[in-house]
Amino acid sequence: MSSYDYDLFVIGAGSGGVRASRMSASHGAKVAVAEERFLGGTCVNVGCIPKKLFSYGSHYPHYTHEAAAYGWDFAKPTLDWPRLIENKNKEVERLNGIYRNLLNNAGVRLYEARATLIDAHTLDVGGDRITADKILIATGGKPSRDDVPGTEHAIVSDDAFYLKELPNRALVVGGGYIAVEFAGIFNGYGADTTLIYRRDMILRGFDIDVRKHLAAEMEKKGIGFKWNTVIKRIDKVEGGLDVTFDDETTQQYDQVLYAIGRIPNTSNMGLEEVGIEMTGSGAIVVDDYYQSSVDNIYALGDIIDRYQLTPVAIGEAMKLASNLFKGTNDKMDYADIPTAVFSDPPIGTVGLTEEDARAKYDDVEIYRSTFRALKDTLTGSSEQTMMKLIVDKASDRVVGCHMVGPDAGEITQGMGIALKCGATKAQFDATVGIHPTAAEEFVTMREPVPEPEAAAVAG
Ligand code: NDP
Repeated sequence: MSSYDYDLFVIGAGSGGVRASRMSASHGAKVAVAEERFLGGTCVNVGCIPKKLFSYGSHYPHYTHEAAAYGWDFAKPTLDWPRLIENKNKEVERLNGIYRNLLNNAGVRLYEARATLIDAHTLDVGGDRITADKILIATGGKPSRDDVPGTEHAIVSDDAFYLKELPNRALVVGGGYIAVEFAGIFNGYGADTTLIYRRDMILRGFDIDVRKHLAAEMEKKGIGFKWNTVIKRIDKVEGGLDVTFDDETTQQYDQVLYAIGRIPNTSNMGLEEVGIEMTGSGAIVVDDYYQSSVDNIYALGDIIDRYQLTPVAIGEAMKLASNLFKGTNDKMDYADIPTAVFSDPPIGTVGLTEEDARAKYDDVEIYRSTFRALKDTLTGSSEQTMMKLIVDKASDRVVGCHMVGPDAGEITQGMGIALKCGATKAQFDATVGIHPTAAEEFVTMREPVPEPEAAAVAG
């Protein structure tokens, strides 16, 4: 019998920590988890879930406007922002309760306290000493803040979920997932919204057609862009926040949201003292099995800064629990992870960008289609959907699949299966479309983009 209090002690009850705790307990381990903030972590409380709810909410004025073309007349929409926050809070509370039950039912002991390491097998948990054979650190990350003068007047995504009122004039800083998602949310709810980015095109790392298409659609919806610009200072003044940019111009906003990346929650936990190796940004260095530089201490999820995505943290947790307590020796497969950005319109993407595919394969074929959704033939909306397939010519395998348009996330999940199975373009073509849908376009694109044009786009 083990001389430790627990076989596994998990620090952090977010998506990865909860899943690792439950699965380890289901494999017979004695498990405890410590959480100092909220159950379910970023995703449930200040991330994916409330963000998606806000995103749903931001579309309603648009729907009521569009409905006129379909014969409906609604009164002019009015917004009760505090009602949104209250309803969202209730749902988040409900989900916290579900997480608590999941842990209870799995026989995992929950400590609602901060846990820090004293040595490789001993923790301080809210003042109590607890020992464990193995320790898992799954404490996630938190939004970064810039260090220009006045950033204390700005908010980050954690705060954006608890705003007392919708800002009339919002400035969103950054060009990643969170920036484009919140720009869409603020704009959809009616704020005069500007996105400021230090380079010349949002979503670095995504396919270039996706990036350009989304930026154009966001602009059509009224979101302003300030490219190649950074903030020099923020001053709180009567009536708002005066933001001075590096070109020395000043503009007033009601809220400035920084969405410039997230940093791992590794500080003041005793990690350095115990000898855990970390990267310059504070992420824990682990091997393919999530083992840190200290043999019995593991880490996964946002804290290891590979992919900051809930389903990835969950996948890693499943592998770790099985490897530690079920005798397997499996590695997580990180290839072809599908992802969605809940911008307006949303993005769905899986596999390689055109640029990466051209670098990896000798010869690629690009299939691209841009069209107006059937629904908009009556509404008159000029929104365009863009879908793109990238094919390795030698093997005929589809190696990249990208979409910007309504339901992109829903559609791309299925495409993720196809790519995981190594589907060829011929198999896509042999698949019967579902008519009339946008998704059918993925199986009806027959003519590749002529190569010179494709090359120009990639360049
Ligand atoms: P990202 O890393 O996606 O983007 C950060 C952005 O901020 C980049 O555009 C970056 O520019 C810019 N930036 C970084 N530092 C500065 C600075 N000092 N001044 C100005 N701009 C700066 O971070 P996010 O915060 O948007 O999101 C964090 C992660 O959370 C995402 O990467 C994603 O993994 C996850 N997430 C996933 C979601 C989903 O699945 N739908 C939704 C939200 C988040 P540059 O390109 O120049 O580096």
